[in-house]
Parts: sequence; C-alpha cells; structure tokens
Amino acid sequence: MDKGKLAATSPAPDKDDLIVIGGAGGFIGGSLARYFHERGFTRIRAIDKKPLLEWYQRVPGVESLCLDLSEKENCVRACEGAGEVYNLAADMGGMGFIERFRIECLRSVLINTHMIEAACRAGAQRYFFSSSACAYNTKLQEDPDVRALKESDAYPAMAERGYGWEKLFSEMVCQEYWAERGMKTFIARFHNVYGPNGTWDGGREKAPAAICRKVIEAKDQGGKEILIWGDGTATRSFMYIDDCTKGIDMIMHCEDLLAKPINLGSSELVSVNQLVDIVEGIGGTKLQRKYDATAPRGVAGRNSDNSMIQNILHWEPRTPLREGLARTYAWIEQQYADRKAGKRTVI
Ligand code: NAD
Repeated sequence: MDKGKLAATSPAPDKDDLIVIGGAGGFIGGSLARYFHERGFTRIRAIDKKPLLEWYQRVPGVESLCLDLSEKENCVRACEGAGEVYNLAADMGGMGFIERFRIECLRSVLINTHMIEAACRAGAQRYFFSSSACAYNTKLQEDPDVRALKESDAYPAMAERGYGWEKLFSEMVCQEYWAERGMKTFIARFHNVYGPNGTWDGGREKAPAAICRKVIEAKDQGGKEILIWGDGTATRSFMYIDDCTKGIDMIMHCEDLLAKPINLGSSELVSVNQLVDIVEGIGGTKLQRKYDATAPRGVAGRNSDNSMIQNILHWEPRTPLREGLARTYAWIEQQYADRKAGKRTVI
C-alpha cells in the first residue's frame, strides 16, 4: 500500500455484537477481554480450558466458560452467535516449555482447526489468529546482531520445531478460509509479549517475567547471584501488553490486512544482559551473573521489522521497555509478596 494512503478500516463493530475470546484464562486473552469490556462491549464470551478459579483475570460482566477448545463440539458451543472470534488459546510457554514439550505445542493445531470451522459455520464476521515470531525461518536468526524479520521471511519455511510449525500451518488454514470460504481472517505474529497478569513462575514464564522474579527473589532472600539461561548475548524485542491488545484490535478491523500475516512486536532490540541491567536498575540492585550454557535459549537473535505495520496502520508498539518493565516488576513483586503471605496468585 502507498505511504500516506489511509488504511481501509472497517466500520466499528456494534457494541452489542458477541465477541468470543479463546484462551481468555491466560495472559493475552484475559487482557483482551478486559480491553473490550473497558471499551463498552456488552457481550463478551471468554473461554479457557483452565478451571475458572485458575484464570489470570476474571472480568466482571463477561460470560466465562471452562471448555477444552481442542474438542470440536466445545468450539461449536463457544462460537454460537459470535460476531467476532479471537483465538488466543494455545498450549505454550517460554523457551523452557516450547523446546521440551513439542507435542503439546503441535497439538494446539486442533484448537485452531476446530475454532475456525465453528466460527465459519456460526457465521462469524471476523476471525483472529495469534501467530508468533517463532513461525519465521530460524536460519535467519543465527546471529545476535540480527536483521529485523519482515513478514516475507517466513518462507522458505524453517520454523521453530513444534511450536513454530503449528503457527505456520494454522496461518495457512486462516488464509484458505478467506480464499475459499470468504470468512474474514486476520493473523498477527506476536514478538515476545510481557506485562502484568502474565505467567511469572512455574516453567512457562518468559524471560522478562523470569528475570523480574529472580531479582525480586534475590533481594528478598539476600541472594547475591542471578542465574541466566544462555550466555546473555542473545537478542530479542519485547512488546508491552497494552500495545498488544491495541494492535490486535487495529489489525482485526483493517480490511487491508485480510488474511495477511503481520508482525505485532516492538522493534526495540536488547540483549538478555541488557534486559537484566534494566531490571536490576528498577529493583535498585546489582547481582553477580552466572550463565547456564545448557539451558534452552532459542535462536541467537530476533527483532520485528515494523515497516508493514507502520505503512498500513500508521502505528507500531511503542511503550519503552524500561517503562513497561517497571510496571511488570511492580506487579510481580506484589504477586511474590502475596504468595509468601499464602494468598492466591497467578503463576
Ligand atoms: P497463556 O498461556 O497465558 O494463555 C493461553 C491460554 O490458552 C491458557 O490460559 C491456556 O489454559 C489456554 N488453552 C490452552 N489449551 C486450551 C484448550 N485446548 N482449550 C481452551 N483453552 C486452552 O499464553 P499467552 O501469552 O496469553 O498467549 C496467547 C496466544 O499468543 C497464544 O496463541 C500464543 O502462542 C501467542 N503468542 C504469545 C506470545 C507471548 O509472548 N506471550 C508470543 C507469541 C505468540
């Protein structure tokens, strides 16, 4: 699309249309339910396979259902009467999880396959799929000093084993539902999302939350060291959750992005060591770094090329990492204190 030409946005959805969100017991899905609720949408159906008591966020006034969306009949139930469907459900976690549990990651294909078919049959107007930067060719990510990944870099395909291949396949499913059945589908490739109400312990957490927790733990227990996975040189960009929810909304309602995978990520590249510097600065401490070369670490470098989102939406995720991390650190510190006091927390 020409620079300067405004993106073709669709008319704002009716506030009484039913919005269905899969994976709403988790980090991004829960934040998205809150996002739409705060914007006055009156009919939101949130779904997750986790029991309701374990959801990270429960938004008052939102219909919340515990259903396993890898089962066809549950997807049919979930999509009944839907105007828009957002699929944020997946069995996933940070590198520690996706390198170890490839079958679980691959089996998420069942969720998208049944959800999109159910959404189509229910006559939903729009369908959103949460893809990932792990869909990109890993051969392009072997150097920490990486060239940012642009949307065309997914092919020729050599995605992250398991998790990335599932994302790439499900993207194609979404594209074909538009091409053959005329259902409007939208696909965002998220690059590392972080923020309050995300997983911060237990094995599925990602680097920003894990580092915040380790710094908080060391401060609390008088520890002097921090254990870092890899050698600290790997680079990544990290997107704050509020940018993610806003980006999902903008992408889903832009006709120029029909069935077109697009990066949704920050382009502020940092190394793991720099990430630790920032978190230590927020915590007001300095720890001795120990590196675990045997730990899962993923690709050497990955960044988001935001030319396409800038050109089409005239916007990109912009929350400075330092600012988003300060909010995340404060939230994890509270969670840590609550857990210590025996209160219920998100993990
Ligand atoms: P999350 O683990 O916090 O949330 C995912 C939710 O899906 C969980 O609550 C889980 O219980 C639910 N779920 C799993 N299997 C299910 C099933 N069969 N039926 C119903 N619910 C099921 O993860 P998140 O960070 O919120 O990620 C949301 C989406 O974004 C996922 O598709 C993920 O792959 C994608 N993504 C996330 C990131 C990130 O950095 N967080 C990066 C790239 C892509």
